[in-house]
Amino acid sequence: MSKSSFADLAASLKNRDALFTSFENRPEYLKDATEISGESEALVMAACEEDVVKVVRYAIEHKLAIVPRGAGTGLSGGCVPERGSIVLSTERMTHLEIDKSEKVAIVGPGVITGDLQQKAAEFGLAYPPDPASYLESTLGGNVAEGAGGLRCKRFGVTKDYVLGIRGVTAAAEILNTGCYNSNHGFALSDILIASEGTLLIITEISLRLIDNFETGDTFLVAFDSPKQAAQTVSDITASGMIPTILEFLDGDAAKCSNQYEKTEGLDDVAAILLIEIPHETGGKQASLIKTICEQNKCSFFRHESDAAKAEKLWKVRRNLSKAVREIAVMRVSEDVVVPNSKFPELIEYVTELNSGSSLRINSFGHAGDGNLHVNFMADSDDPQTRELIEVELRKLLEKTIELGGSLTGEHGIGLAKRDYLGLEFDKPTLESMKWLKDIFDPEALLNPGKIFS
Ligand SMILES: Cc1cc2nc3c(=O)[nH]c(=O)nc-3n(C[C@H](O)[C@H](O)[C@H](O)COP(=O)(O)OP(=O)(O)OC[C@H]3O[C@@H](n4cnc5c(N)ncnc54)[C@H](O)[C@@H]3O)c2cc1C
Repeated sequence: MSKSSFADLAASLKNRDALFTSFENRPEYLKDATEISGESEALVMAACEEDVVKVVRYAIEHKLAIVPRGAGTGLSGGCVPERGSIVLSTERMTHLEIDKSEKVAIVGPGVITGDLQQKAAEFGLAYPPDPASYLESTLGGNVAEGAGGLRCKRFGVTKDYVLGIRGVTAAAEILNTGCYNSNHGFALSDILIASEGTLLIITEISLRLIDNFETGDTFLVAFDSPKQAAQTVSDITASGMIPTILEFLDGDAAKCSNQYEKTEGLDDVAAILLIEIPHETGGKQASLIKTICEQNKCSFFRHESDAAKAEKLWKVRRNLSKAVREIAVMRVSEDVVVPNSKFPELIEYVTELNSGSSLRINSFGHAGDGNLHVNFMADSDDPQTRELIEVELRKLLEKTIELGGSLTGEHGIGLAKRDYLGLEFDKPTLESMKWLKDIFDPEALLNPGKIFS
């Protein structure tokens, strides 16, 4: 592709510094948080929907693919480009409007999740979905991945808050699924959520807000076996109680975090739970949590009502990704999800996998949703290690499906799990998904190679 031809596109965009044909000073735009790196002909930082339309028209004319991109915090290679593509970043599309009376936010895809939360709070409202990456990830990326988060046990995931999506199709046309409560016609938004940039480039999202809520009481509970912690998760869910947050860390994950920043109660534990419940009068839920934890023979129990002290406990969870990244030369982190009742079996399986493997395998996750993130870690990054990780990963995915679970709870399929899709879906179901992709994008212009191999 000639640079002069890109120059015409650059000149047509709203802002001057919006198109780059070299990635030398911005290699991060070829990657996401998996650290898988790709290749691309150009990067466009769209300022508005018209820019997106122009890029799509240009891509059609020059037979280039488009790889939509938010903040690049994805964990499945979703925005990693391949040769013959334009990386189309929507991170500069940050318009944000709040309709207080309707409790609706209309946002550009580049708005950072945490920024919407903060803005909503100024109106006495809340946007509850909170991926652990909320200070970096964009709402466009959240919708495209169907992001979950810590508070999703109580409040639901991103898809529960999407009222409508506006975007640019592969034919450079505008598609708009509605804004407020549109309950007629096909549920197109549902098809677009978690479509990983393969069906549409999102240019605006309409999101439901709720009344603001206080953070509540926090519990840090340790156990002598991961199975006891996992059983506690199942028992809490079975009791009918809905904690705001219910996070699991196995002993090795807790150790990694504790090495990064020390927290009382974390030495020599086999697993911990971090639980948050809304503030309550009478302490009924707090005492039920204590009873369930004791029945499962917890070795340490701390209840914190003071918000600042509780925040320190949450650092155990928040530090984890950074801690693991510092410890291992090579790390592959994959998320799976199973029904709550099967969570203990999954945890037991990961413990077995770790003891039978030369890799270091630990796990953590939004246990209240049955979500588990499994880290495969090694001291070297050679082809044999990568092959071994693939072998262990396949075993984990097969077990997850056997337990009635799904290949991904929230991180998406992307590049990382596209070869395993057949484990979860039968041929007619897969064919239907591919058929839908063909309807939206017959020339395979949008994010090719993602979801389907
Ligand atoms: C430390 C850490 C913690 C994390 N915790 C969580 C968690 O708790 N829950 C969770 O769900 N995820 C989590 N993630 C994963 C990641 O943050 C989410 O998947 C997030 O939604 C990605 O947003 P992004 O803006 O970074 O998107 P990107 O990584 O840039 O892109 C992700 C996908 O969205 C598509 N996309 C982006 N923008 C658009 C657009 N405008 N139109 C169409 N498609 C688009 C891309 O093509 C790609 O397929 C975590 C990641 C990290 C690094």
